[in-house]
Amino acid sequence: MAIAHIHIGTNQGDLIANLKLAIGKLGSKGTILDQSHVYETEAWGKQDQPNFYNMALAFETKLDPYGLLALVNEIENQLGRVRSEKWGERIIDLDIITYDDKVICDEKLTIPHKHMADRNFVLVPMIELAGEWLHPTLNKTIDELYVECHDRCEVILIDTTI
Ligand code: ATP
Ligand code: CA
Ligand code: CA
Repeated sequence: MAIAHIHIGTNQGDLIANLKLAIGKLGSKGTILDQSHVYETEAWGKQDQPNFYNMALAFETKLDPYGLLALVNEIENQLGRVRSEKWGERIIDLDIITYDDKVICDEKLTIPHKHMADRNFVLVPMIELAGEWLHPTLNKTIDELYVECHDRCEVILIDTTI
């Protein structure tokens, strides 16, 4: 068994319903060990689009990293994700942020996620779950990466339970 952290983002349709559906589908294929609060953030990278709701999960899985990538892609497709422009609007985006302490960098998969240290909307929910987790190549904890992060996008806690 491995423990992966998965980040979920959505900015189309019923955002809370999208998060719930994604969590339900993941939960049927492994164990959700923990989940962060939901945060609202401005879009990163491409700003002329609605704000996102974001959260992170700790997920226990039997799947290897590529099997987990296939699962998250399948769930994105089931929820109706259409890939159009890079960093554009989406019903659901499931990114693998960590997979144990594994380091992978190939054309299909980068673990830890390649932009995690640049994004407050990833770091803030991850702090709730794994602030002391040590990034295996940057050699810093998530807490430390957040302090050093240059991202100025605001991340606002949403008062809701999922
Ligand atoms: P970003 O990766 O910058 O957050 P994005 O999530 O919008 O952008 P997608 O279009 O969802 O990008 O994914 C593009 C490809 O990224 C996927 O086909 C997948 O193979 C690859 N990928 C590489 N590493 C990961 C990872 N850690 N988690 C999810 N997908 C990944
Ligand atoms: Ca993403
Ligand atoms: Ca993605």
